[in-house]
Order: sequence, then C-alpha cells, then structure tokens
Amino acid sequence: MPFTYDDQNIFAKILRGEIPNSTVFENDHALAFHDINPGAKVHVLVIPKGPYVSLDHFAAQATAPEQVGFMAAVAEVCRISGVEEGFRAIANTRAHGVQDVPHFHMHIIGGAQLGRMLPGD
Ligand code: AMP
Repeated sequence: MPFTYDDQNIFAKILRGEIPNSTVFENDHALAFHDINPGAKVHVLVIPKGPYVSLDHFAAQATAPEQVGFMAAVAEVCRISGVEEGFRAIANTRAHGVQDVPHFHMHIIGGAQLGRMLPGD
C-alpha cells in the first residue's frame, strides 16, 4: 500500500525544532517526549526521526538501523520511566485506529494500574 507523508504534521515540526517538546530520550533515529495531554502518570510518545506515517509504514519501509534505533529508544524510555510493574504500548493507526497525528508514534502508558484495553475484555 502507498504511504504518503505530510511534513506539516505536528511531530514533524517538533523534529525540526519549530515547536518545543518535553524530551525524555533521544538517539540518532528516534525521539521520545511527554504527551502534552497525558492519559496516565506515565505517558511518553516515541517517534522515529524518519518520515513514516504509521506503524505498518515504519515496519515495512524503515531501514534496519532505524528500526533498531527506534526499539532502543523504547527500551530506554521503559527503563527510565518507572514502569517496572507494567505498561501499555499503543500505536493508533489511521481512521479505524483513531490516529490524530500522521507521523508514526508509540504511546508508552503506565505508572499505575490500567483498565482493560477494550470494552468487554
Ligand atoms: P494519536 O495520533 O491519536 O495516537 O495521538 C496523538 C497524541 O499526540 C495525543 O495523545 C496528543 O495528546 C499528543 N500530542 C499532540 N500534540 C502534542 C505536542 N505538541 N506535544 C506532545 N504531545 C502531543
């Protein structure tokens, strides 16, 4: 499937330094920062620095160093965020997944007991 990246999305602007962010961790391939509207005690977003719109775009087309760098950032965020008791990783994707920002991001959510993910679970 074709993936089209809009470089005017808010996370692209964060990566270009055009708007501020509260950085948690950064490496060559990824940036992690606090969600501006946290849904839990810990709510960090991890984004690749490359122009990928979604998890499936990133998984299909990111280079091996980009994928390794991204997962290394996830590991570091988990290590430093106090989620030893557990957390949830979410990548909302396109319309059905209710993705608001069209730059791939992984939510790392935790710091306290979470509810079930879906109604009826
Ligand atoms: P979604 O695309 O639905 O997975 O979620 C986008 C997330 O980005 C939401 O949780 C927002 O609160 C968050 N967000 C939007 N703008 C910013 C920003 N400038 N800095 C940090 N988080 C943001």
